[in-house]
Amino acid sequence: MRRDDVLIGGSWRPVSSTTDVVNPADGSVVGTTALATRHDVDAAVAAAGSALPAWSELTPGERAAHLDRLVEVLEGDAERLVDLTVAEVGAPITTVRRWHVHAALDVLRSAADHARLLAHERRGSAVLLRRATGVAALVTPWNYPLFQLATKLGPALAAGCTVVHKPSELTPLSAYAVAEAALVAGLPAGVLNLVPGTGADVGAPLVAHPGVGVVSFTGSTEVGRQVAGAAVTNLARVSLELGGKSSSIVTDDVDLEHAVRATVESCMLNSGQTCSALTRLLVPADRLDDAVRIAGAHADAMAVGDPTDPDTELGPLVSAAQLERVDALVAAAVARGAHVATRRTETPAVGHYRRPVVLSGLAPDDPASCEEIFGPVLVVHGTRDDDHAVSVANATRYGLSGAVWCDDDDRAFAIAARLQTGQVLVNDAEFSVESPFGGWKHSGFGRELGPEALHEFTELTTVQF
Ligand code: NAD
Repeated sequence: MRRDDVLIGGSWRPVSSTTDVVNPADGSVVGTTALATRHDVDAAVAAAGSALPAWSELTPGERAAHLDRLVEVLEGDAERLVDLTVAEVGAPITTVRRWHVHAALDVLRSAADHARLLAHERRGSAVLLRRATGVAALVTPWNYPLFQLATKLGPALAAGCTVVHKPSELTPLSAYAVAEAALVAGLPAGVLNLVPGTGADVGAPLVAHPGVGVVSFTGSTEVGRQVAGAAVTNLARVSLELGGKSSSIVTDDVDLEHAVRATVESCMLNSGQTCSALTRLLVPADRLDDAVRIAGAHADAMAVGDPTDPDTELGPLVSAAQLERVDALVAAAVARGAHVATRRTETPAVGHYRRPVVLSGLAPDDPASCEEIFGPVLVVHGTRDDDHAVSVANATRYGLSGAVWCDDDDRAFAIAARLQTGQVLVNDAEFSVESPFGGWKHSGFGRELGPEALHEFTELTTVQF
């Protein structure tokens, strides 16, 4: 896909600067994208502002019908979305079909359903009106570009906001496809505006723009802090979905092999470039050796290679810079005495590939155990009992996700309820697009998914009778 334009007010407008989009699997150029400027941001925010009154005054049911049509068009184009995402992210096609494309469609469908349920609430003699906050700035990263756009776009449109989207400059192609689909679906002009470009030239002026009423950002904790600062300057509402370092807690009564293998799979999904990945495995100390052996063997058995092959489990990392960063963090952990439980290291000759690695023998406060690596790296620790496991799990600056493997639901619940994190999966529970998702501490604030997601894009007016 070769694009040199931005979508503003329902029209594609060419810009003077572009950059290549590169396939991380083989270095080939798979497209070009516009590099917009702050002038484009100004025009996009103005267009979104002009479209806001009419869009926010539609009934929730009318907005839901628009979302339904958008889903219909995207569904018809699902295989192209899969191909574009595989090409720009390098994620395996099987992962992309399920967790990038179909999950994104599910999120949009769910947002339409939640729009239909939006209703004024009576409380005693008062009526609480939930109304669109204003123009929404959506800033998304590269790791699940389509899914992350859906988690913001669905609820923003459902709530009655109009939108300006800034995708990652590494993965803008799926965002173009969504914008094209919005036009085909007949979304009114200016309701969705797309301004691809860099964080400095587009992201920063967008989140600091006085015409923006709400900022929804997904990305790194460091950039999230800057985004929050910029939004606060305008007293814009802001929600941040940031990094994570989530623990998988295994108790003494559960099938160790099953729990460990499932944790390895969660950790390595999307080559470890998943904010909610279970990257720390906490097992009872007397099961540590077995857990390390099982995790190492399972990671070594995973298929790393061509992302277009349906049997591939891990594709490349997204960029050379990301690969170098992960390699350096693993090397530093090994230099500090980490034991490497995985044996295989060979990778395809071309592309930013890395085999998954399992580390043990580190202190729980080692940087490799506490800081987000965002690559296929699992760290295993032994714990004394449930209390110790909870305290190790909570001893990071993040709090996004987590898991508990335990045969006793009451005990699992007691552990889960003490974790400072936005989500806990018990045993084989799966991530659900119906459940609110978001962080504590440096993983951010605000919630995506579920009806709570719409609350991020609305304000309450109390009408007291
Ligand atoms: P990043 O923070 O570098 O960039 C995210 C987005 O922000 C990109 O579109 C980027 O261009 C833009 N940006 C950069 N500087 C900006 C600025 N000053 N103002 C406004 N926008 C700016 O993150 P990334 O490297 O693209 O993504 C990886 C990170 O995202 C990881 O840390 C990961 O944990 C996190 N993440 C979190 C979640 C979640 O839901 N919590 C989901 C996915 C990714």
